Amino acid sequence: MTRTVFVNGEYLPETEAKVSIFDRGFLMADGVYEVTSVLGGKLIDFDGHAKRLERSLNELDMQKPAEFDDLLEIHRKLVELNGIEEGMIYLQITRGAPDDRDFVFPDPETTRPTLVLFTQNKPGLAANPVAERGIKVISVEDIRWGRRDIKTVQLLYPSMGKMMAKKAGCDDAWMVEDGYVTEGTSNNAYIVKDGKIITRGLSNDILHGITRAAVLRFAQEAQMEVVERAYTIEEAQAADEAFVTSASTFVMPVVEIDGAAVGGGQVGPVAKRLREIYLEESLKTAI
Ligand code: PMP
Repeated sequence: MTRTVFVNGEYLPETEAKVSIFDRGFLMADGVYEVTSVLGGKLIDFDGHAKRLERSLNELDMQKPAEFDDLLEIHRKLVELNGIEEGMIYLQITRGAPDDRDFVFPDPETTRPTLVLFTQNKPGLAANPVAERGIKVISVEDIRWGRRDIKTVQLLYPSMGKMMAKKAGCDDAWMVEDGYVTEGTSNNAYIVKDGKIITRGLSNDILHGITRAAVLRFAQEAQMEVVERAYTIEEAQAADEAFVTSASTFVMPVVEIDGAAVGGGQVGPVAKRLREIYLEESLKTAI
């Protein structure tokens, strides 16, 4: 089926949607993005994603191409036009397409930001069988830039990390800086030890995951103890459980790190419970 996508104010078949070769997203990775999940035809935590998007734009001094309400309306319309029950909406904003390539930012009065949205249909997203068996990760050095809190489209290194994992027969990579885990290639990383949920604190070193915020809130509401601190790969390997969170995988158990089984290589009770709570609670506020 041909998707209907959104490009700069127009809903178009994906085959007719076009962006300039001078677009700064294409030439300079000068763009930000968000991925919002759809469950039961509704948007999960749209508010959180819209707020982080606004922050990313502000941090990069980039114009906002549309108001919150307009963005919500576009998301909803794409869900409807493409008949999405379970899946994702990808949104990207770039600094636009000036009439030539230049390192200097274009004048925002004459160069408007580019706004693109498209849907990804993923039936079975919530009932993902991978969550039953968990994933295997390898560790790789974190050589990304210093503003990982901004959700930019500079995804080459995370993409390379995923390929290194694949080559090693694993599913994903955890990145390590100065001996401590920062995050997964496209998710936040956690361990569980003696009932405590341990995850790196927020800073410019990691993306401030929207799913992370929700999961930590739900964990605390369920009287689980949360500790925000950095940890090493060795500590993670010796933990009772490990897991990752992201908008499209929710809570995903990790059962192996660099070849060492975590929690006997089985999905643990905390990750399992948090996945259930997250799906249940976030559906209640889906819009
Ligand atoms: N860290 C990184 C590097 C990511 O790319 C993502 C997903 N985009 C996350 C964490 C998780 O963020 P969220 O829960 O908002 O999807």
